[in-house]
Amino acid sequence: MYEVRFHGRGGQGAVMAAQALASAAFQEGGYATAFPFFGAERRGAPVLAFTRIDDKRIYRKTQVYEPDFVVVLDETLLDTINVVEGLKKDGMVVVNTAKRPEDVDVGMDIKLATVDVTSVALEILKQPATNSAILGALAKATGLVKIESVEKGIMQVFGDRLGPVIGERNAKAARVAYDRTVVGQTKGHRKLQAAKKWLPDVKELPMGVTAIPLKTEAGLVGPGSFVENKTGSWKVFRPEYSKDKCTMCNFCWFYCPEGCIYRREDRMDFDMDYCKGCGICANECPADAIKMVR
Ligand code: SF4
Ligand code: SF4
Repeated sequence: MYEVRFHGRGGQGAVMAAQALASAAFQEGGYATAFPFFGAERRGAPVLAFTRIDDKRIYRKTQVYEPDFVVVLDETLLDTINVVEGLKKDGMVVVNTAKRPEDVDVGMDIKLATVDVTSVALEILKQPATNSAILGALAKATGLVKIESVEKGIMQVFGDRLGPVIGERNAKAARVAYDRTVVGQTKGHRKLQAAKKWLPDVKELPMGVTAIPLKTEAGLVGPGSFVENKTGSWKVFRPEYSKDKCTMCNFCWFYCPEGCIYRREDRMDFDMDYCKGCGICANECPADAIKMVR
């Protein structure tokens, strides 16, 4: 499986780039998924989008934490975001910049490709929309997909949404960026400080439920406020858990909409006072360790 992480800013179309790349892989007979990660962003704020490509069905649904390739649509992100976080050592970064690869410091010795995608977009699209052209650079630098497939992917995703004429122009921008891409190597000198995460990751969260209520004078509010109102009697089916089958992957804990699954040291516990019997935990469990029973 290949995993690609796009770094862009809200409004730059990183999500459409991820989708067009997935479509390109699909044109070549592969499987692909594409999805974004938004925090409380507004236009201009850093955003992430991801594409996974494989020759088998893809079940992984998480964000991409250890990408094979990183694509940076806006070079100013390099000042504030550790874009190479988790990047595999034999991976590659593709950056939209007028600089040569050896002059771009991402804080790591790594293969790096550059192309001035903003200029390409201004020439061909008459606006600084870099999300299609950068895919041409990715195709050239990594060989992950052919440029012809990228053009088809762009035609499909951009053409469907913005019309065939705009789709064709974006495909052309990708081809021009492909021709102008320079592939090289960079040496990382700069020590980048990882930006504060929006949310704690799974290891940082306390053992127990996902939802932590907030106590106010008016009572409990926000996620977890259901603790004052036992909802467990709503259910028709309840989860039956098998510790022997459980691999402690935490999927059930993560997906339970009620936050009523506890992570213990060596097992999961289900709080029947609050479980509504939705069955999501059983559905998501990859080890078949949960069955819904009357
Ligand atoms: S059945 Fe639904 S509410 Fe109950 S533990 Fe599973 S996911 Fe949570
Ligand atoms: S999803 Fe299944 S295997 Fe994973 S922790 Fe929950 S019960 Fe265990």
